[in-house]
Amino acid sequence: MRDLESIWSEAFLYAARNSPFYRERLARFRGVPRPDQVRPVDKSEVSARNEDLLCVPKERVAEMVTTSGTAGRPLLWMLTKSDLSRLSLNERLSFECVGLTAGDVVLVAVTLDRCFIAGLAYWMGLQELGCAVVRTGMASPMLVLETIERVRPTAIVGVPSFLRMVAGTARERGVDLAGASVRKAGEPIRDAALALNAAGRSIERDWNARVYSTYGVTELASSLCECDAGGGGHLHEDLLQVEILDEAGQPVPDGVVGEVVATTFGVEAMPLLRYRTGDCAALHRGACPCGRTSPRLGPVVGRRNHLLKLKGTSVFPSAIAAALDDTPGVGRYVILARTDGAGSDTVEVLVHGTVAPDVLRDVLQGRTKVAPLVRVASSEEIERLQAPPNSRKRRWFVDLR
Ligand SMILES: [Zn+2]
Repeated sequence: MRDLESIWSEAFLYAARNSPFYRERLARFRGVPRPDQVRPVDKSEVSARNEDLLCVPKERVAEMVTTSGTAGRPLLWMLTKSDLSRLSLNERLSFECVGLTAGDVVLVAVTLDRCFIAGLAYWMGLQELGCAVVRTGMASPMLVLETIERVRPTAIVGVPSFLRMVAGTARERGVDLAGASVRKAGEPIRDAALALNAAGRSIERDWNARVYSTYGVTELASSLCECDAGGGGHLHEDLLQVEILDEAGQPVPDGVVGEVVATTFGVEAMPLLRYRTGDCAALHRGACPCGRTSPRLGPVVGRRNHLLKLKGTSVFPSAIAAALDDTPGVGRYVILARTDGAGSDTVEVLVHGTVAPDVLRDVLQGRTKVAPLVRVASSEEIERLQAPPNSRKRRWFVDLR
């Protein structure tokens, strides 16, 4: 690995010279400042001047993607050919963390188009690693099952909720899901203490397979994937630098949750310096049993702006979701957040299942110290809230504040 100081210096000078956005922001510096002297940049600031982030002439752009739009209008993100090579390198390193080699047969059950970066990145990383890849996407559980029977993949890349749906279809049809390792994207499979949550446990049981968590951010064109130790996603330090900051923008101690702030290295089209991702997680710098020395990023416990502030306490919606996932009789659900107009938030849980609302309220109070309104809803009502027209991703949290 190259030393961080020289990589930072290179990234700073490149952005200051080539990015209209950073040229203005960094004009006051003479020479290269320390990273902590550069004010972190927010997604809203980037969104307001999206195209000014571009450092190369438009004809050099090779690929355009958009962010998922879970927070505000999706950003348009552009990559050059060199950025695509960096993206495949990043993904190859991530798949190597899982232990995949050229001998693996990998089924990719995530969306490959719809302007997402992740599916493309997985495909390129697996190609670079030399694996045999089959792309089912995630439109049809039956196609996934037929493909599993036909090619017997040794690993599957997918989203937890979809993999659980496929396992359900397999049970109905008596298909054997022989143990492949499963790498998941986009939804948590571990709790804040790094133990598998209900979704992670159910996938390991149904698929008789190891699950590995991965974390990625479109704008960073980077992902971090955990190794066999399951102690957080390993950072590829030549490609990305990660800091964890508190609400005042100060670094937090090792292992403490704060906002993930990242700097990209080696990006040509749209580099970012100290970018506030809005995701909250902890960084672990201690030695990893796998022998890698890079820091590991723990599970994302929530989005900074999703933090619910209730009288005397605050909680991430993901903590409420984890409690719901662990409660017998809870089927589908949606968590709604509103403001009471007096500086406090209110939470309502719509649930479909066999659990009694007052029992569920007590469980949630015990687990999260929050007693939300609990209302029984029809499956159709929950479907309308989870998947509104034109949405690209199913959601379990609706922020009406
Ligand atoms: Zn490790």
